[in-house]
Amino acid sequence: KEYAEISLKDIDQLAKTSFPLCMRHQFDKLKEDHHLKHGGRMQLGLFLKGVGLNLDDALAFWRAEFSKKVGLEKFEKEYAYTIRHNYGKEGKRTDYTPYSCYKIISSTPGAGDHHGCPYRHFSEENLRAALSRMGVNSRATEDVMNKVRNRHYQVACTLTFEALHGVPCDAGINHPNQYFSDSQKILHP
Ligand code: SF4
Repeated sequence: KEYAEISLKDIDQLAKTSFPLCMRHQFDKLKEDHHLKHGGRMQLGLFLKGVGLNLDDALAFWRAEFSKKVGLEKFEKEYAYTIRHNYGKEGKRTDYTPYSCYKIISSTPGAGDHHGCPYRHFSEENLRAALSRMGVNSRATEDVMNKVRNRHYQVACTLTFEALHGVPCDAGINHPNQYFSDSQKILHP
């Protein structure tokens, strides 16, 4: 699937309006900690590639955060490679595909990891707090929590999408990049 290119200067705004909670959470944690572990770098990095961040902008994006924590030299030595790798520029030159909801929901994040699906992997308290930060109202939050209790994580994400965009999403959410492109279609028809 092809996406129009997005520019680095718009990314903070896009994260607020059009990232699903899984990506929004990792994005916020990266900005807060200036670091993400491997699982997060893969999940968020491939998503950003999918939304149309080109390789140079992706390197600038990760460099700006990581260099605050590990320094520029270590970033270039240890982390830049994986980013180029995700874009198929290193190693086997495989062009890696962004992860689907199914793959993310099936992942098993450990302590200190921020990847995974918040509907599946957050505690109820953390999920409620995250939904409230996103601007989901309390009635919609209860509907979301009901779906989560029944393990319908993608339906919970779809309800979040509908609450935030004010329109139905009949197809349902099955991919974070689909969440993004559907959101952009509504916001910029
Ligand atoms: Fe992300 Fe999919 Fe979970 Fe939504 S359902 S938060 S898009 S993994």
